[in-house]
Amino acid sequence: MPALGETILYRNSDGGVRASNIIISRSALRNWHTLAATIGHELNHYYYFNSGAYDRWEKHYGPIRATAISEYKSHYWEMQWGGSPSYEEMESSIRIYRNK
Ligand SMILES: [Zn+2]
Repeated sequence: MPALGETILYRNSDGGVRASNIIISRSALRNWHTLAATIGHELNHYYYFNSGAYDRWEKHYGPIRATAISEYKSHYWEMQWGGSPSYEEMESSIRIYRNK
């Protein structure tokens, strides 16, 4: 399944990872529920990158595990708010995080 949304990143002059834009795929427009869940999911990523949370995770755990944390938390947010999280992606993120 193609991604419904994507958060576009860049590395700032201090080496921090920041989000500049969010892309919402046309396929997310299939219904209001999917659109809302997709926007919320990507806003979670946006917040983790621009608040510096991702930088802290990357510093402690490295980029692969930091990305897994961000993905898990964004899907978890969807689950909390009645979205349709990918449980496969959540499980895969947990596996990546635990596989030091
Ligand atoms: Zn995501």
